[in-house]
Amino acid sequence: MNFDLTPEQQMWRASVREFCEREVAPRARHVDETGEFNWEAVRKGAALGLLGLNVPEEYGGAGVDAISAAIAIEELGRACGSTALALAAHNGLACATIADFGSEALKAQWLPRLASGQGRLGALALTEPGAGSDLQGGVKTRAVEEGDAWVLDGQKMWTTNASIADVIVVLARTGEKSMSLILVPTDTPGLIIGAPEKKMGLHGSPTHAVTLDKVRVPKENLVGVKGRGLHQTLAVLDGGRIGIGALAVGLAQSAYEAAIKYAHERHTFGVPIAHHQAIQWMLADAATEIEAARLMVYRAAWLKQNKRRYTKEAAQAKLFATEMAERVCRNAIQIHGGYGYSREFPVERLYRDARLMTIGEGSSEIQRLVIARQILNLH
Ligand SMILES: Cc1cc2nc3c(=O)[nH]c(=O)nc-3n(C[C@H](O)[C@H](O)[C@H](O)COP(=O)(O)OP(=O)(O)OC[C@H]3O[C@@H](n4cnc5c(N)ncnc54)[C@H](O)[C@@H]3O)c2cc1C
Repeated sequence: MNFDLTPEQQMWRASVREFCEREVAPRARHVDETGEFNWEAVRKGAALGLLGLNVPEEYGGAGVDAISAAIAIEELGRACGSTALALAAHNGLACATIADFGSEALKAQWLPRLASGQGRLGALALTEPGAGSDLQGGVKTRAVEEGDAWVLDGQKMWTTNASIADVIVVLARTGEKSMSLILVPTDTPGLIIGAPEKKMGLHGSPTHAVTLDKVRVPKENLVGVKGRGLHQTLAVLDGGRIGIGALAVGLAQSAYEAAIKYAHERHTFGVPIAHHQAIQWMLADAATEIEAARLMVYRAAWLKQNKRRYTKEAAQAKLFATEMAERVCRNAIQIHGGYGYSREFPVERLYRDARLMTIGEGSSEIQRLVIARQILNLH
């Protein structure tokens, strides 16, 4: 792997950063305080390709490589965790599932709309009240074939973007032991989206329970192969984990930059706190760990774009980057002292936003399980 980003990737980072600093970061605090989704920035971001990171150009997507997709989510994370999570789920979960497994007809029908920002976003609903880490054992939502339709019944939980999505890809049981992915437009009768969940952070990224009550969609809405839904889901999650790792790097980078600035400004005992070794070491550790996590994320992305196996590397990148982000955000608060605990400064928001990253798209425990299975050759 070449450790330099290509000139195209460097230009891409510069333009995404410029966009994020202009349109996304200035609204981050408002988004956190009000829970309003930043539609304005997201719609504008479509012109840059931020809604079609995983969509091929022929369907109106950005057609960027996997490292560039990770860079975009990282830069969004540096600007606003909520907006970044919404776009990570839209790109890495919803669009990626349709692009990787959908029929030509589904791709042509949905991807141009999802990538262009003319419609709304996409969502992927896997988790249920009794099924998160253990989808195989826990998923109860059923899809039954009736004539030329699928009829879905069940209850999904924690669906990111559900209320701001045109389409939700649903994992449902289609046999005793097998599952399938089925695309459900959100205006389908019987699909009921619950109130937004009240969360610790990521307030501007709406999360909802979704009830499916005799929801009827055409048979053609099957995404991929009947009975292969779980297998397809795990493949999508490999890619999604690169996105969450990148998002965590962005959050940590933001907290680190705020801590550096504050360490130069704040004086104690006659010197800026940056002169105290205890503060320097926290910042030195942050700089080192952020760099390590970023390289792990880009390496997993590089393997992905070179069509190599990357399950272990994506899990490692997600595990390390998300746990790193929590440490870095925690220490950024410490460096700010009492002000770090105040909503006047951004680091407490970053800490709350970072907390989710070790849980969503496979908890740290599940990443360790995935890594252990790979290194011990247990399948
Ligand atoms: C803000 C937010 C957004 C989300 N967005 C989405 C979304 O868009 N779509 C979606 O489908 N889901 C989404 N989720 C759900 C998320 O993916 C799950 O919460 C996560 O996978 C964990 O599942 P669980 O909550 O059921 O926990 P459980 O699976 O019940 O786990 C509870 C605890 O047990 C541990 N554990 C479980 N099994 C094992 C094991 N074998 N060994 C060791 N430890 C284990 C877990 O790591 C965890 O610590 C979201 C969740 C949140 C909070």
